[in-house]
Amino acid sequence: MKKKIAILGSTGSIGKSLIDIIKKDKKNFEIILLTAKKNYKKLLHQAKIFNVKNLIITDKNSYKTLKNRKYNKKYNIYDNFKVINKIFNKKIDYTMSAISGLDGLEPTLKMIKYSKKIAVANKEAIICGWTFIDKELKKNKTEFIPVDSEHFSIWSLIKRNKNHLIDKVFITASGGPFLNWPLYKIKNVHPNRALKHPNWSMGKKISIDSATMMNKVFEVIETQKIFGLPKSKIQILVHEKSYVHAIVQFNNGLKKILAHDTNMKIPIFNTIYDNENKILKSKNLNIKNLNNLNFKFIDKKKFPLVKILNSIPNEDSLFETVLVSANDELVKYYLNKKISFIKFQKTLQNLIKLKEFSKLKKKKPRNISEINALNWYVRLKIKSLCI
Ligand code: NDP
Ligand code: MG
Repeated sequence: MKKKIAILGSTGSIGKSLIDIIKKDKKNFEIILLTAKKNYKKLLHQAKIFNVKNLIITDKNSYKTLKNRKYNKKYNIYDNFKVINKIFNKKIDYTMSAISGLDGLEPTLKMIKYSKKIAVANKEAIICGWTFIDKELKKNKTEFIPVDSEHFSIWSLIKRNKNHLIDKVFITASGGPFLNWPLYKIKNVHPNRALKHPNWSMGKKISIDSATMMNKVFEVIETQKIFGLPKSKIQILVHEKSYVHAIVQFNNGLKKILAHDTNMKIPIFNTIYDNENKILKSKNLNIKNLNNLNFKFIDKKKFPLVKILNSIPNEDSLFETVLVSANDELVKYYLNKKISFIKFQKTLQNLIKLKEFSKLKKKKPRNISEINALNWYVRLKIKSLCI
């Protein structure tokens, strides 16, 4: 029987990788829903290949363009995620949640209800909305698989093990483009240089997060939420080559390491073909690369944003939204050359110390509207600090 699936954010980097993977095995898949924000051409192209009936495109102009074309009449084209409740009436086999940003939270929550298994790449949804994701997963008995390489690795390593056996989890960091640069050179570095990641090919936002190491701050929070671990059990290890993605140290004396080539298709492939005997035709990591893993601890002087982890609460709170939204807005200002690399980092560090935000560490989000409202408020605050 064909696997019925949905892809949220199918036109993005993760979405396209998944499409590439299942294109080679088309006869075994039926895609029920694809979504994008603006890229209607790509969306339509994907819909044609897989004969997908339901398409959501949220940008108003792109929606109009797509809707007004006569030959598109055979598709159901929508401009919002509310229709998910109309499209589905029972569970499909798998959903990939790969929208970027907080707008991915609402559709992710909706699709949990209609999926047997949901693979989530959307970091922001996990970091800010875990309270709701976790509740929906339990309520609907939906299986959750993380896509981010470190978390997919931890998930693979701890399968069938109970949390109380986990002594420590290490997630690796490549160190980004500035790992071996002197501090003085980084302070005013041009965004184009910060975008050049040594190992991974990724979008602009996540590349800047990698250069500031904010990506690792987010990944520690993700680890905390997904695996229910306290911060004290999570450690970042610098590992320049990025072959090892995570290490789990158990209380029974075992330390398990997961390594794979630096290709996101590997975790993505394994979220959709979990436990099936399928073969991924991709470069496998040369064993000799594991001869010199060279793990190091982070130089917090060079990457001061990592110190933010000290102020992250162990319980879900609205503070995580402050962090995600402020960082996201600052990345835009930096990429548009409105602020320097150093001003970016200082502004973020100062903003989260403000009383109005630090007090949110004790406030659990009550609903998505509260998260969304805070998201916009924080962005306005950043604007006032950066102009
Ligand atoms: P991209 O920016 O490449 O793609 C994002 C996708 O979401 C696109 O389909 C885009 O549509 C759609 N989208 C963006 N904003 C909205 C919106 N407001 N409403 C509806 N749809 C929207 O992102 P990535 O694929 O790189 O990343 C997706 C998520 O996965 C992110 O949260 C990222 O942090 C996480 N992640 C990514 C990794 C990577 O290697 N790329 C690794 C680990 C995690 P359109 O194309 O039309 O703009
Ligand atoms: Mg990662």
